[in-house]
Amino acid sequence: MGLMEQKQHFSVNLLDWYMINRRDLPWRRHHNPYFTWVSEIMLQQTRVDTVIPYFNRFIANFPAVQALAEAPEEDVLKNWEGLGYYSRARNLQAAARQVMELHGGEMPQDKQAVFALKGVGPYTAGAILSIAFNQPQPAVDGNVMRVLSRYFLIDEDIMKGSTRVLMEELAGELIPEGRARDFNQALMELGALVCTPKAPHCLTCPVMEQCSGRIAGRELTLPVKTKAKPPRPEQRLVALVEGRGKHRGQVLVRQRPATGLLARMWELPHVLAAPAAAGKVAGPLADEPAMALLAGSLWAEGFAARPEGLATHAEHVFSHIVWNLQVYKCTEQDQGSDELPLIAAEARAAYEVQAATKEMAASVLDAARSASDLDGEMLPEAAEASINSALTQTGKGDGLIYRWIGPKDMEKLAFPNVFLKLLSSYFAGAYDEVSE
Ligand code: SF4
Repeated sequence: MGLMEQKQHFSVNLLDWYMINRRDLPWRRHHNPYFTWVSEIMLQQTRVDTVIPYFNRFIANFPAVQALAEAPEEDVLKNWEGLGYYSRARNLQAAARQVMELHGGEMPQDKQAVFALKGVGPYTAGAILSIAFNQPQPAVDGNVMRVLSRYFLIDEDIMKGSTRVLMEELAGELIPEGRARDFNQALMELGALVCTPKAPHCLTCPVMEQCSGRIAGRELTLPVKTKAKPPRPEQRLVALVEGRGKHRGQVLVRQRPATGLLARMWELPHVLAAPAAAGKVAGPLADEPAMALLAGSLWAEGFAARPEGLATHAEHVFSHIVWNLQVYKCTEQDQGSDELPLIAAEARAAYEVQAATKEMAASVLDAARSASDLDGEMLPEAAEASINSALTQTGKGDGLIYRWIGPKDMEKLAFPNVFLKLLSSYFAGAYDEVSE
C-alpha cells in the first residue's frame, strides 16, 4: 500500500465515520465564528464534558463579540471561574476588543488577521478558519499529533517545533476538497473518542485497517513525547481571617495585581513559607513558625489577626508550580489593641514590625529562627529567602486590594478554584473547629 492510498483511506473513512458518530455539541449547532472561537479557547486543556455548561452560560451572558468586548473584566472572569488558566479569558476579551476596533465586530477570515488576535495560536486559528469558514487550514493540537503519529508511524518527538510543522503539512494534505470543516472536527473527534492517549480503541477505529502504528504494535508507544518538567512545589501559608465587630460573618480576601499569575483574581491572603531547596521538595512548615510568619505578613499589610490553628490543607496545580497550602483560621484583632496575641514569645517580633521593610524581614526571620521548630528540610537561608520573598510578594506597593466579604459577595467576585472551595467550605461551617 502506497502513502497516497494510505492517506486517502484515512480521509475517506474518517469522514464517513464522523458523519454518523459525531457528538451533538452546543458549538457545533451553528457555524458562528464567535461560538467556534469561544469553544476552542475553553477546550484548551479542558475536557468537553466540563466545557459544555461553561460554554452555554458564557454565550448566554456574552452572546456576541460586542457583548464580550464591553463587559467588565470581573464579569468575564466570574463566568470563567472554575475552568482554570484564566489568562485564556483575559486574552479572549482583549481579542474581542481587537475584533471590535480593527474589524468592525466581524471575525476576520484572513489567516494573518486571525493569528494576530490575542491568545490565538496556530491551532486555534486553524480551528476557527476551518470550522467557521470551511477554509482548508490544518488545526493541529496534541490530540491530532497523537492520531497522526500512530496512523503514519511517525517517530518524531511531538514536543519539537519541527514535528509540529511536519504534522501541519500532513494534516493540510489530508483535508478533502471542500470538507475542511467536517474533516478537522472528525480528526479531533477520533482523538477524543477512539485514538485516546492510554487505551486506543483500535478494534472499533474507522481507519484501523491501514494504521501503521497498530500494524506495528506501536499504538501504545506513540507518540514520542519528551516529558515536560514537573511543576515546582511551593509551600504556602494561607490566612482565613474571620472578622469581628463590623466585619462579623465576613472573611478577609484580596485581589491579585493586574498582571502576572491569576491577575485580578480574588484569593485568601497567603505567603510563601518555603521554596524548595535545590534538589529537594519544600515540606510543610511547623504550625508555630507558620502562624508567626502569617501573622507578621498580615500585620505588614495593615491587618492585625491572631492565627487560631490549622484549618486544612489544600493544593492548587498550575502548569509550572504546585501550591501546597497550609490554611490557618485567624481572628481579626483590634488594630489599636495592646493585646496583640502571643502565639509564642518568639513570634512577638512578627507582630511588632510596622511595614514591609528590610527590618520587617529581619524581625520575622528572627522570630522564625527562634521558634527553631522549622521543618527539617528548611535551612535558615531558605527561610530567609522565603520571608523576603513573602514580603516582596505581599508588599503594599504590589497593587493588592483587600476587602471583607460575606457569602453573597462570592456570587460576584472571581476566585481560583482552590480558594472558591476553601471559602465555600468555610461559609458552610466546615472549619468551625480547628486544632490549635
Ligand atoms: S487503529 Fe488504533 S492507533 Fe491507529 S488510529 Fe485507530 S485507534 Fe489510533
